[in-house]
Amino acid sequence: MTHTLNSRALAEEAERIIPGGVNSATRRIGAPWAWRSAHGATITDLDGRDYIDYHAAFGAILLGHVDERVNAAVTAAIQDIDLVGLGTTELEVEAARLVTESIPSAEVVISTMSGSESVFQAIRLARGVTGRSYIVKFQGCFHGSYDAIARNVISTPETAWGMDPNSAGILPDALEHTLVAEFNDLASVEALFAEHPGEIAAVILEPVPHNVGALLPEQAFLEGLRELTRRTGSVLIFDEVITGFRHALGGYQELCGVTPDLTTFGKSMGNGYPVAGLAGSAELMSSFSSSGGPVMLAGTFNGNSMSMAAAIATISVLRDPEVDFYGHVRRLGDRMRDGLRRITRDHSIPAVITGVGSVFIAYFLEGEVRGYRDLLRNDDEAYATFHRRMIDKGSFMYPMSLKRNHISLAHTEADIDRTLQQADEVLGEMARNGEFALLRGRV
Ligand code: PLP
Repeated sequence: MTHTLNSRALAEEAERIIPGGVNSATRRIGAPWAWRSAHGATITDLDGRDYIDYHAAFGAILLGHVDERVNAAVTAAIQDIDLVGLGTTELEVEAARLVTESIPSAEVVISTMSGSESVFQAIRLARGVTGRSYIVKFQGCFHGSYDAIARNVISTPETAWGMDPNSAGILPDALEHTLVAEFNDLASVEALFAEHPGEIAAVILEPVPHNVGALLPEQAFLEGLRELTRRTGSVLIFDEVITGFRHALGGYQELCGVTPDLTTFGKSMGNGYPVAGLAGSAELMSSFSSSGGPVMLAGTFNGNSMSMAAAIATISVLRDPEVDFYGHVRRLGDRMRDGLRRITRDHSIPAVITGVGSVFIAYFLEGEVRGYRDLLRNDDEAYATFHRRMIDKGSFMYPMSLKRNHISLAHTEADIDRTLQQADEVLGEMARNGEFALLRGRV
């Protein structure tokens, strides 16, 4: 990967005064990155090198960087009000109205500052309401940094489904009360319910586990989870921090027709501004202390004017039929997926090209991909090499295995075609050099 001069100098300065030189550990990968600007679909490093951005800040950017409509709304809002700290504001009520109109499970909604906070509020609410201790999550799903949920994301074959904490410093009790099942495998969830009858407070999942690329959920699996949780009095939580607003205005639940009890969302709803939320039925959410219930709700910056204005502006663009956000990103997503299928076929590379709408991914493996079990067959080295070389060509794809790519409203057909041309060069060369384990096995 190209290591450029000014970027390197700033990264070194950062390293002296910020641990590792970055404010989130996943930003420390590849070259020492330092950025000057981000506009539309283009990000520019400190040395003036441009990249077509498919990383999109892990999916936080939906409309394109520095969207004028969002910035104008934020700028207008903060002329009048920033943060008062009691009661509410017109901006908070308007944002809540837009969310409740958009998301099927959202009768009422709270605003938070990050996906992690939304998830911890959801889990605490589920435990507070049910009086039960256990949570079920799925191997491969990521739900942020809250202790109870920080285990078993990208695990090795040895640690998958076992105890694989994401961090030191978490009390074993917190981790042990989270059980791990296999995605798209209802029997693995039923087995946990059979082992812990009447003890499971909630099942939480990314309806499309994008933290390992894009595992596509089977309808019977989602419906089975809905039926099982309803029958056993557990809370079904869809973590739509990535899928929410991205795949449909109502999130993936709108597409699959399965309505969870609680929904967490964040990332793209503010097009880069910090804003997230938790929605659910009025009955469940009335257990928050703000309604006189027993579950604490607190947050100094919750509902601040900047975040609310960003969310209102972003959702308003997504709702605008003239903009046709969902049509645009689906068309470009299909163009990218079709192109990558053709290229991998032309070069005889074993690959599964998949995704939903704006999200695309190329797994390098043979056979079908249903759950995490199948991803253990992915050629991780080839995957990371592909993304690294795409960055060198000018298309920024996060250079780590299983990490997905995002298309925004600002991407154009020409961007997609340029990236496909680069992918053809990179994958062709990798195939000729024997850099795919599966191809080597055949020689
Ligand atoms: N849930 C999911 C599905 C996520 O992908 C993430 C972050 O990547 C989170 C929760 C945590 O969100 P945040 O980083 O805003 O705390």
